Amino acid sequence: MNHRPRKRFGQNFLHDQQVIDRIIASIAPQPTDLLLEIGPGQAALTEPLMASAAELHVLEIDRDLVLQLEKKFAQTSNVTIHACDVLQADFSMISDHRPFRLVGNLPYNISTPLIFHLLRWHNLIRDMHFMLQKEVVDRMASGPGSKAYGRLSVMTQFRYSVTPLFEVRGESFIPAPRVCSSVVRLEPLQTPPFEVGSVNNLERVVMAAFSQRRKTLRNSLRNLFSAEQILTAGIDAGQRAEQLSLSQFAALARALPYDAD
Ligand code: SAM
Repeated sequence: MNHRPRKRFGQNFLHDQQVIDRIIASIAPQPTDLLLEIGPGQAALTEPLMASAAELHVLEIDRDLVLQLEKKFAQTSNVTIHACDVLQADFSMISDHRPFRLVGNLPYNISTPLIFHLLRWHNLIRDMHFMLQKEVVDRMASGPGSKAYGRLSVMTQFRYSVTPLFEVRGESFIPAPRVCSSVVRLEPLQTPPFEVGSVNNLERVVMAAFSQRRKTLRNSLRNLFSAEQILTAGIDAGQRAEQLSLSQFAALARALPYDAD
């Protein structure tokens, strides 16, 4: 295919067959699967996914690539192409309310907002396999006390078990991204690890705490709690956000008045 990669769409095309094979082996697609691929691009992953005979829906924003994909898969009954922005996509419509598996070598320029967008479909998601900047995978997987620990870690780990699978060198892509990449598997937890009352409240606490991560909780959570309320939730208000475990964030979320999700 003849296509000039577009930076604004985060286009770094995979061309390393070993990496492609390794990703497909990690996904292990089955003919009975409903697979959704984000950003098929020039079909590096789409073709082997299609070969599994699974029902495959791909979401691509670049109209030129959509035209190429429509040509390529014109005779293929198990592939449906959706010309859309994944950040606006309604995954329950695309999947027709059936549980699905999500895969993609994600556009790095929107990877964090995309992960947050996807959290809302967790009821339908069976699992996710993504190529991301290594730094984003580190943030997803890290725990208290680490520099990488933040809002993305807490909100992802509240919903998913996070398994970093392997790292991928820049030369495996055209053009080569400046950052290291990593493939991650996310599997929904059957039940949340901690009771939070409302996920909106967890989101509010985590957002406030990490937006001023250098400050103590007494200061960063000033608009939500008094120091006494933080203490009543069993937490030392002199700590900083990065020192708090998931269960401590959950305790703070429970201490807020109920906010329907
Ligand atoms: N899957 C291909 C591969 O592995 O070579 C392409 C991966 S490339 C990193 C990201 C792809 O996502 C591109 O095809 C790009 O056009 C597409 N993309 C970027 N932003 C998007 C968006 N908001 N919605 C849907 N697709 C998007």
